[in-house]
Amino acid sequence: MAFLPKHLFTLKKHFNIPVFIPELACPFQCAFCNQRKISGHIAVPDSGEIIKTVNEHLATFPKGDNHVEIGFFGGSFTGLPLKEQEKFLKLAKPYLDRGLIQGIRLSTRPDYINGEVLNLLKQYRVTTIELGAQSFDHEVLKQSYRGHTPEQTMESAHRVLEQGFDLGLQMMIGLPGDTLEKSLHTAKTIIALGASNTRIYPTVVIKDTALHHWYKTGKYKPLSLEEAVEWTKHLLLLFEDAGVKVIRTGLHPSEGLLSGDELVDGPFHPSFKELVLTEIWYDKLEKIKTNASKSITFYVHPRELNYAIGYQSKNKNRLLEKFDKVTFSADSSMDGKSFKVEHDQITF
Ligand code: SF4
Repeated sequence: MAFLPKHLFTLKKHFNIPVFIPELACPFQCAFCNQRKISGHIAVPDSGEIIKTVNEHLATFPKGDNHVEIGFFGGSFTGLPLKEQEKFLKLAKPYLDRGLIQGIRLSTRPDYINGEVLNLLKQYRVTTIELGAQSFDHEVLKQSYRGHTPEQTMESAHRVLEQGFDLGLQMMIGLPGDTLEKSLHTAKTIIALGASNTRIYPTVVIKDTALHHWYKTGKYKPLSLEEAVEWTKHLLLLFEDAGVKVIRTGLHPSEGLLSGDELVDGPFHPSFKELVLTEIWYDKLEKIKTNASKSITFYVHPRELNYAIGYQSKNKNRLLEKFDKVTFSADSSMDGKSFKVEHDQITF
C-alpha cells in the first residue's frame, strides 16, 4: 500500500511567516556562510518586531481554509540556550491557541538535536524541523567546514521522526568537492530517511567567507548557472517521484543578495526555479518528432503553462526551429506534467 505524504492529503492554501534569526548562537563558520549577509539582517529581531511581522503577514493572507506556519529561519535555532528558544516559541503560542496559525517550523543544524531540545519543541507544538544536511558526502562536508558528519544528520533525522515531527532536510549543490553523483546520492538519502520536504540551495560565493577567499585564489569555482539548473533538474525529478515536497530551489530574491556587492559569483538567478522547470518541460517536449514542419499545439495544465512555454519563451523559441507555428493552450484536464498535442503528421 502506498502512503501519501501529509501535505498531499489537503488542498489548503499554505502560507509561511518567516522570522529570521541570523547567526544567533552559531559558533561555526561554514565555508559558504556569512549568515548576516544572506538573511539581509544584522540585528536579531526583538519580541515586538516579531509580533509586528507576524501580524503584518496575517493581515495579507486571503480569508479561507489556510494553513499558516511561523518559520524561525536563518540560524541554528536549537543551538540557542533553551530559555532563548522558549522565548521565541512563547511568542508563537497565542497564535496557535487562537487558531491563527496551524504550525511552527524551524531550521537548525543536524548536530543540534537532543532529547531535551525535542521535548521543548514538542511542548510548544513545533510541527516541522528542517535540518541543514547540505550533503551526505563526508568529503564535501569536511571541505565545507560544516563541522558535522552524514551519520549525525541521519541519527537526528531518525530522532525527529520518532518524536512525531515532520522532517525537512535541506541540501546544497556545488559545495567544494561536490559532483552531480554526490548530489544525487544526497537526494536519495534525503528520500530514504523519510523527509517530507526539502530545499535545494545552489552554492553561491558570498563576500568575506572562506569560499570567497578560495574563489580569489582559484581553489574554488562555483557551478555555472547552466550546471546548477541541470543538476537541480535531476534532483527535482527524483524528489517529485518520491513525493518529497521541494519548498525552495535557489535563494529567494529577498534574501539580500540582489542589492549591494555581497554576491561575488555563483549560480544565482531570481527565477531559478522557473529556469529548472523550463528544462524539465523541454526534455519532454523535444521528444516530439515529426516529418512535417507545420503547426503544433500543446495542451498543458494551467499551472504548468508558463513553465512549458519556458522562461522568456525559451521552449517556444526552441520548438519554433522545428515547427512553423507553436501554440500552448491551458487544459485543466491535464494531470501534473502530462500534456497532449494536436498535429496532423506526428510521430513519437
Ligand atoms: S550555515 Fe548555519 S551553521 Fe554554518 S555558519 Fe552559517 S549559520 Fe552557522
